[in-house]
Amino acid sequence: MKHDFIIIGAGIVGLATAHELKLRLPLSRILLLEKEQAPAMHQSGRNSGVIHAGVYYEPGSLKARLCKKGARTTYAFCREQGLPYRQTGKLIVATNDLELERMQALLSRCQANGLDPELLSPGQLRDLEPAIAGLGAILVRESGIADYPAICDALLDQFRNSGGTARFGAEVTGITEHPDEIQVHTGVDTFRSAQIVVCGGLLADRLAQMQGLNIDFRIIPYRGEYYRLRPELNDLIQHLIYPVPDPALPFLGVHLTPMIEGSITVGPNAVLGWKREGYGKINFSARDAAGMLAYPGFWKVSARYLRQGIREAWNSLRKPAYLAEVRKYCPQIRLSDLEPHPAGIRAQAVLRDGTMIHDFLIKETPRSLHVCNAPSPAATSAIPIGWHICDILLQKPTE
Ligand SMILES: Cc1cc2nc3c(=O)[nH]c(=O)nc-3n(C[C@H](O)[C@H](O)[C@H](O)COP(=O)(O)OP(=O)(O)OC[C@H]3O[C@@H](n4cnc5c(N)ncnc54)[C@H](O)[C@@H]3O)c2cc1C
Repeated sequence: MKHDFIIIGAGIVGLATAHELKLRLPLSRILLLEKEQAPAMHQSGRNSGVIHAGVYYEPGSLKARLCKKGARTTYAFCREQGLPYRQTGKLIVATNDLELERMQALLSRCQANGLDPELLSPGQLRDLEPAIAGLGAILVRESGIADYPAICDALLDQFRNSGGTARFGAEVTGITEHPDEIQVHTGVDTFRSAQIVVCGGLLADRLAQMQGLNIDFRIIPYRGEYYRLRPELNDLIQHLIYPVPDPALPFLGVHLTPMIEGSITVGPNAVLGWKREGYGKINFSARDAAGMLAYPGFWKVSARYLRQGIREAWNSLRKPAYLAEVRKYCPQIRLSDLEPHPAGIRAQAVLRDGTMIHDFLIKETPRSLHVCNAPSPAATSAIPIGWHICDILLQKPTE
């Protein structure tokens, strides 16, 4: 049987795309292939659970546009499906003069991105969150939290209920494109399709190369390590609490996040990962490490962020150093309050010259579309990313 579409990857981006395609083309034959035994086993199930409002992103970028739409649609999807969510609001807290200055720039960026932020004095901050100390803060009411694995399950259920087929434990090992069809090989089967969409997350570059695409980036994995506050502190904060980020750095800094099940996580940091999909005690893959070390972009990006990289590695090794990051704005947290919590790994596309690609990145051939870079806030933005992908796909050959 020839399929109309094959989607590779049952993370939130692949699932949102499969779901939207089936809505737009109810009679089409769509197959979803995932190498794991369940959806959301990687980034989509190992993140902070934040519905981002769209504070930080370059105005007009795909990221900025899709994040704003994404926040709206994620809240709406959770409401329709009866899934848990909470619009907690977010506080971005300045703790020194430099951060106060940066906070002003962030306020303008919020406004440029169509948000309605409020500037808070130290007293107003204390009234809202007595455990948090700062010289000032921005309140972003549109931010919140959700259960992304539950959203993934709901997208999969809807896809299946409307006639889509999903196969788990099906690792794609080859892709061959012909003028009249595209073939997807797993160890045991070959599937034929008119079009494919590849949403491979941490393995996006390998899947593109597997098909013979000439790509100019590689995925560099950055581990995000978390702690969780001991349960007695679950009511410590009501809002998401973020530091003011350094605009020269790619990640947002260690934050306090109320999770949907009631706990509060502290993190994530951003340390280089030596295994793309490794969450155990020893996370080293010879293949992943060798690929990274042989890539000039890896050395260049590491040199560019050398000081920060060393600091993150040090904080990862030394719990008191990690603690110091959060005590800047929440001084009452002690070492004994930090309990273990599972890590996640971010897929970050990096160009040969060491530039990190911040925006979402899509590459196409006549019969394929590869989502090459879908970093945070792609969980928030997944539903509109799915719309965007469908808009592109529906202009391609369907035979
Ligand atoms: C620590 C951390 C915190 C984050 N916090 C947030 C947040 O609070 N809010 C937010 O909006 N975003 C957040 N993000 C980002 C967000 O989680 C990701 O951008 C998003 O989940 C990406 O989804 P995806 O579907 O592209 O990738 P993934 O979820 O990684 O899915 C890719 C899928 O492809 C499958 N796959 C790969 N290769 C093959 C193959 N050969 N054959 C078959 N299947 C294959 C994988 O098994 C996987 O299931 C965070 C990310 C991390 C890591």
